[in-house]
Amino acid sequence: MTKYDCIVVGLGAMGSATTYQLANAGARVLGLDQFSPPHKFGSSHGDSRVTRAAIGEGIEYSQLALRSHALWRDIEAQTGKTLFRRNGCLSISGTDAVVMHDVDDFFANIGEAARRYNIPHKTFDTPEAIRARYPQFAVKAGDHAILDEEAGTLFPEACVAAQLQLAERAGATLKRDTQVAAITPTAGGVEVATADGQRFIAARVVIAAGPWLPRFAAAEIARHFTVTRQALYWFEIKTNPERFLPENCPVFIWQVPQSADVHSDLYGFPLDGNPSSGVKVSHEENGGAVDPDTVDHAATPQDEIDRVYRSYVAPFLPDLGPRCLRTETCLYTRVDRSRFIIDADPRDPRINFVSACSGHGFKHSVAIGEALAQQMTQGRAAHVDLEPFRLKRLAPYLRA
Ligand SMILES: Cc1cc2nc3c(=O)[nH]c(=O)nc-3n(C[C@H](O)[C@H](O)[C@H](O)COP(=O)(O)OP(=O)(O)OC[C@H]3O[C@@H](n4cnc5c(N)ncnc54)[C@H](O)[C@@H]3O)c2cc1C
Repeated sequence: MTKYDCIVVGLGAMGSATTYQLANAGARVLGLDQFSPPHKFGSSHGDSRVTRAAIGEGIEYSQLALRSHALWRDIEAQTGKTLFRRNGCLSISGTDAVVMHDVDDFFANIGEAARRYNIPHKTFDTPEAIRARYPQFAVKAGDHAILDEEAGTLFPEACVAAQLQLAERAGATLKRDTQVAAITPTAGGVEVATADGQRFIAARVVIAAGPWLPRFAAAEIARHFTVTRQALYWFEIKTNPERFLPENCPVFIWQVPQSADVHSDLYGFPLDGNPSSGVKVSHEENGGAVDPDTVDHAATPQDEIDRVYRSYVAPFLPDLGPRCLRTETCLYTRVDRSRFIIDADPRDPRINFVSACSGHGFKHSVAIGEALAQQMTQGRAAHVDLEPFRLKRLAPYLRA
């Protein structure tokens, strides 16, 4: 049996980045995925992901985003693919600001991170100021906004594909459609057995299984994760399509006023190409826990689409019409207060796991992959600090 330096289980956002960075550092690496990434069954699909640099979930995340932005540009240069469109992210909030991504001081954190990391930004202190620049947003009295100018859109399928391409180019072995059934530490290394009877061995294993990670994690880790179904919507443009072109429309996150039907923020993206493909908008569903193997990936029912249009779209984006041109389903894997968990397995330090990162991890994935690879090949991460995301640091964020 070939002994690898590292086997990476799962080749989505986190796994493709880790595999590429390990191979690039000269490690002998095997990457395994039960499907053929990029695919639509996990957490890294749906055309677009918001990337921000001034991070409302906590200023400790900004170092990851800023390093990732540099790495996305490097990967673009190596592959000739467009992965990151930098046209800003406008965060809008009102007087009755809501909790965003499970974090109370989201808006204050953005301002603090922008100042601490010298991230270019603009503030809009009144609804009139927002409306003058961005007439597509029907802001109300009391609304204010901050534009993170280092932010923009990532194209997740292209990001995953580009990193897998570079990983193979750097010598990684990738096995697609290969489901891992068991990970067993032995005296000679960590053994990985697949559902179709193959066995592999490595000095180390990284578990980057996204919504499936709880199946491989020790019970004390698995209990922190909840997997939920999220729906994405592309609504028709009724009027003023030019307002949604990337040069006129940043990515937006809106802490919209709560009501009986509105219980989370609204977020959306500028047009990606043809106006007839519609504008992608969504909000965070806080439905119950699902099983990633049996979750319903079918199109979201019409009555749910109508509810989302009525509650989240029509009052805030009056240029969009009720016709939904497309929906997609995606999986969040949450930890309380939207934390990440990136750590060694308490059962064996040769096994590392990287969580699917609570609905805001894509933007950080390439820096996380680089840091994990550096920890394994050089003993320490050179550019970012993963210490804030270790299990022992989680306690203050957990609900009673
Ligand atoms: C609707 C939605 C919107 C989001 N918006 C944003 C955003 O705007 N900005 C942002 O930064 N983040 C966002 N996120 C979060 C971000 O997308 C995730 O943090 C990230 O994609 C997680 O990547 P992952 O590699 O952990 O999981 P995945 O991409 O799901 O990869 C896990 C991989 O492991 C494989 N696998 C699992 N089990 C096995 C097994 N037994 N054997 C072999 N392979 C296995 C799976 O097939 C899969 O390919 C969003 C997430 C969702 C769902």
